[in-house]
Amino acid sequence: MNYRLSEIASIVGGRLEGADLRVGSVFADSRSSVPADMFAAIAGRNHDGHDYVGELHTRGVRAFLVERSLDLPADASVVVVPAGVLTALQTLAADWRGRFKGRVAAITGSNGKTVVKEWAAAAAPSSVKLFRSPRSYNSQLGVPLSVLMMTGDEDAAIFEAGISRPGEMAALARILRPDIGVFTTLGDAHQENFASLQQKFEEKALLFEGADTIIYNSKYPVHFEAPRLVDVAGGAGEENALLVEALWRELGWGISAGCVPPMAMRLEVKEGINGSLIVDDTYNSDLNSLSIALDYLRSVAGGRHQTLILGDILQSGLPDKALYEQVAALAQRAGVSEVIGIGERIAQFFPINFSSVEDFLRLAGRDDIAGRALLIKGNRTARFERLTHALALKSHTTTLTVDLDALVHNLNALRVPGLRTVAMVKANAYGHGAREIAAAMQHQGVDMLAVAFADEGVSLREGGITMPIVVLNADSDSFDLMIDHHLEPEIYNFESLSAFADALARHGERNWPVHLKLDTGMHRLGFGAGDLSRLTEELSALSGTVRVGSIFSHLSCADEPAQDDFTRSQIAAFDSMSSLLTEGLGYRPLRHLANSAGAVRFPEARFDMVRLGLGLYGFGLEGLRPISTLRTRIVQVRDLPAGAAVGYGRQGVLAADTRVAIIPMGYADGLNRRLGMGRWGMQVLSAECPTVGRISMDTCAIAVPISAQVGDEVVIFGFEGHTVADMSDVLETIPYEVMTSVSLRVKRIYIKE
Ligand SMILES: *Cc1c(COP(=O)(O)O)cnc(C)c1O
Repeated sequence: MNYRLSEIASIVGGRLEGADLRVGSVFADSRSSVPADMFAAIAGRNHDGHDYVGELHTRGVRAFLVERSLDLPADASVVVVPAGVLTALQTLAADWRGRFKGRVAAITGSNGKTVVKEWAAAAAPSSVKLFRSPRSYNSQLGVPLSVLMMTGDEDAAIFEAGISRPGEMAALARILRPDIGVFTTLGDAHQENFASLQQKFEEKALLFEGADTIIYNSKYPVHFEAPRLVDVAGGAGEENALLVEALWRELGWGISAGCVPPMAMRLEVKEGINGSLIVDDTYNSDLNSLSIALDYLRSVAGGRHQTLILGDILQSGLPDKALYEQVAALAQRAGVSEVIGIGERIAQFFPINFSSVEDFLRLAGRDDIAGRALLIKGNRTARFERLTHALALKSHTTTLTVDLDALVHNLNALRVPGLRTVAMVKANAYGHGAREIAAAMQHQGVDMLAVAFADEGVSLREGGITMPIVVLNADSDSFDLMIDHHLEPEIYNFESLSAFADALARHGERNWPVHLKLDTGMHRLGFGAGDLSRLTEELSALSGTVRVGSIFSHLSCADEPAQDDFTRSQIAAFDSMSSLLTEGLGYRPLRHLANSAGAVRFPEARFDMVRLGLGLYGFGLEGLRPISTLRTRIVQVRDLPAGAAVGYGRQGVLAADTRVAIIPMGYADGLNRRLGMGRWGMQVLSAECPTVGRISMDTCAIAVPISAQVGDEVVIFGFEGHTVADMSDVLETIPYEVMTSVSLRVKRIYIKE
């Protein structure tokens, strides 16, 4: 985009206050480490962008799109749009789209939008200047932001549009007005908000009104009208590939799908050699995706030095000098301490450079990357995936993939507007990896973390987590350690109170926040009703040394409707006990009681703050998304005749001739021994494959389709009908136990769109 603020004001029906600046970019995420020219302050459910305007001004932003006048220094310019900033952005984007002369393609459908878009864009001929919306910028906000990222002189642009409820597509259609429409699939994502599949289809189809060409697959029950319809049903090949090829043809590119294979579509975080951490984004490179990836690097770096390893950026449409100056500026603003350029062209602009990936691998040493957080970003032709492969830590093939987008989805589904949130990251974040989950929570503006033991808190501090951390089972032996690392104890009896006060005195610390645990019926740790008057006295004697940061208790049956009367009695007891204490203290600490189930089922149990555990990780409540998938690979296959027996004790006698695969996962990895003998099915090549015989310590056997081969992927949990919750049903336990049982030797991988 490129506007003066006065033009923006007149387009969106707003009022300009301040100098008439020219702006070339806009952003809406106040946490962005790479601010653009103008900040759009969106008042959302959990954040109000207006709260960050002052801080962004101190970081150098001078132009703001806001809903109400704010008290700002004289050098700030604001466009005030009482009707709402989101609508204003949409109107502005529609205007910018109207000025665009190139062809516009828009992709919608239930699945595969991002894959089709990225795949199509990856093969644009180098003579074409192409814009594509970054990653999954497909929402009511993402679409206008991506339209406004266009410089305007591109030859073509590809966008994706996603909706989650009726009424949304009309707004996106008004902005995008595509020449070419691509419809991927019709499925039941977000179906809960639509009366029928037909209604959802009709809503999606609104996007294509006015398109001259629509590409779709008639195997879905869809019907379009347009001057030109391209139905790819019946074509030979994979569905997405057919859509991509058709889109290339419509854009006049004439490429065949075979030349560009599909790709991993997401940023992946991996452990690297020599204590490094790798953010792998090796499938594309352009300025927009670079700035998003830099933001992400910073959020996971956890205090490490950040290094950007970047390949030549192709198809930017800018002269090299201007392009790499922009790259250098982006990197600097994101806090990157060094940029390593790999490629003939980029090498001319950065002091640390190599002409090719081979040169880097030959010349750079392990020590050069020790302990650093690396963003590896290159174009596909330079094959940067070899670099990631060389620098990533090799470990055995079993991985737990954690979907950070699903985590954030769950957080937003459970957060209560206006109340604070504690994220429970005890037990290695329920098995998902405490540092990474904690970093994501910190980035999302969660108020506090809770761990079970001091060591867990120390490890988070070492991982760069700076937000408040409560230690629930704090024992007095660890108080010194806790004070050294700024951890806040749960205090649950008089002994721990006086021991902690002593420790504070030894360290010369004052006013340290502690969290008082009350026993309201769980009967584990905590002060009882009879302790309150003595507790009030002791606390007033210690005032100035300890400060009560919060008072809390824990519900024992929040998820069991049969016990709801008991839960209500706990809520009442907590209310009266905590009120008594508060009166005695003379100040008001936070009060909190509800875990995930409590927060959802008992609004009156929320008090000032909710403590989210299971729900964050995707279980226990409707509408949440499981966040993890456990995978491994086949290490051997063998065809065995009926009657053969597999494994210890010769218990797995085959009823028929069977192809049996061995996988490197046993009970020492967290695969419960009771899942043997066919009691659990894994997924190979879309087939469900039951376990055969007993599960061993490090391996087990499954019956696989005849086409299965060594190296094929095996999904252990995380597919339809085989979630963590399903596995816990088979084991007659709860999802918590299954999640926390995945052993530490299973490598965790974090993905994010
Ligand atoms: C673990 C824990 C929670 C979280 O409970 P979920 O059921 O996982 O949401 C909340 N509060 C306390 C004190 C806990 O120990």
